[in-house]
Amino acid sequence: MRHLKKVDPEIFDAVLRDTKREYEGIELIASENFVSRAVLDAVSSCMTNKYAEGYPHARYYGGCEVVDVVEDIAIARAKQLFGGEHVNVQAHSGSQANMAVYFAVVKPGDTVLAMDLACGGHLTHGHKKNFSGKYFNMQFYGVRHDTEMLDYDEIRNKARECKPKMIIAGASAYPRTLDFIKFRDIADEVGAVLMVDMAHIAGLVAAGLHPSPVPLAEFVTTTTHKTLRGPRSGMVICKQAFAKRIDSEIFPGIQGGPLMHVIAGKAVAFLEALKPEFKEYQKNILKNSKVLSEELKRKGYRVVSGGTDNHLFLVDLSLKGLTGKEAEQTLDKAGITVNKNLIPFDKNSPFVTSGIRVGTPAVTTRGMMEKDMTVVAHLMDSALKAKDDTAVIIKVREEVKSFLKSFPLYSDIIDEMSSL
Ligand SMILES: *Cc1c(COP(=O)(O)O)cnc(C)c1O
Repeated sequence: MRHLKKVDPEIFDAVLRDTKREYEGIELIASENFVSRAVLDAVSSCMTNKYAEGYPHARYYGGCEVVDVVEDIAIARAKQLFGGEHVNVQAHSGSQANMAVYFAVVKPGDTVLAMDLACGGHLTHGHKKNFSGKYFNMQFYGVRHDTEMLDYDEIRNKARECKPKMIIAGASAYPRTLDFIKFRDIADEVGAVLMVDMAHIAGLVAAGLHPSPVPLAEFVTTTTHKTLRGPRSGMVICKQAFAKRIDSEIFPGIQGGPLMHVIAGKAVAFLEALKPEFKEYQKNILKNSKVLSEELKRKGYRVVSGGTDNHLFLVDLSLKGLTGKEAEQTLDKAGITVNKNLIPFDKNSPFVTSGIRVGTPAVTTRGMMEKDMTVVAHLMDSALKAKDDTAVIIKVREEVKSFLKSFPLYSDIIDEMSSL
């Protein structure tokens, strides 16, 4: 990074500071992860320069013979990883992947049934300020009051009532396994298209640790940077019958030139995900998630739905007299990063919330195992108990720093940058 330092010391300094922040904190944001050095190399390569509007072997620019190879490889590896008849790897993000599917299937005003945002759904599943909520008639299903889990009979009833053109399954904050067979059955009964947004669980699906939606849904969308551990981006997998429509909705529908350096990074991440080590990694994410949630329960925290089947869980802090916002800020000061999150039937606003979302993909990438989750739970609890006691928080922060010395993520990058 010597060029960056020389040309723009301000940005160089910010990059160094943020790399240090990643190194010095316990990262428990469920949607974040740390990519490999190989992925970083690809994403910071000269392929950022190339215009390649169109698709492999049918571009609107010359000089695309090499990027064609990269995009072909990315597509082939995605198919190997997930099955699937057709794959579009050009979506810049999960939101764009979702937008392309909406535009391919529904018209403005059409009805779409998705998971309520307050129960774990994503902004692109119908938030009123998002394109989805603005242009479509969004209807919602949620979780049951008693179990805080999905009630498939209720989803079926809702679908019968509102007769959606499309049903969306998938979430950003739902800790339980999704039953895609039931979703398929409901969609078939009401004649709806099924879109599964597996953004959060794609890594688990790739490793065979969560049932795959790919054989069942017309469309599967995902991000590539969450459990899948690739660069920040998106992807659509669909049935062959929709191949042309999806490609044309991505480009020229909603995007211009693809980010070829990011597509190269996705290809690298897919290769990594095809290796046996990736399955071990995903298994460890699940073990860590289970242990961390159990340890917090033992310390008196209420875990929404009583536990977790996947890489994340929600902690309800109301019994501890804290809001989600207070917990997020307190943990932040102690060097532990989580995000505040609505819990089902939350009485607080989305800016305050009663809960936090906790996920283990990133700490597992750093090499933490079950025994380390006991330490993490202890550190979280120590900080949360000492909300207003700065001295204690500073002490926890020191403990966090020294604990993380055993998990040397990116430390060589920090050393190299600091020596420039
Ligand atoms: C993260 C997420 C997305 C959107 O991803 P971006 O890349 O941030 O646009 C879409 N759907 C779900 C369920 C997500 O969790």
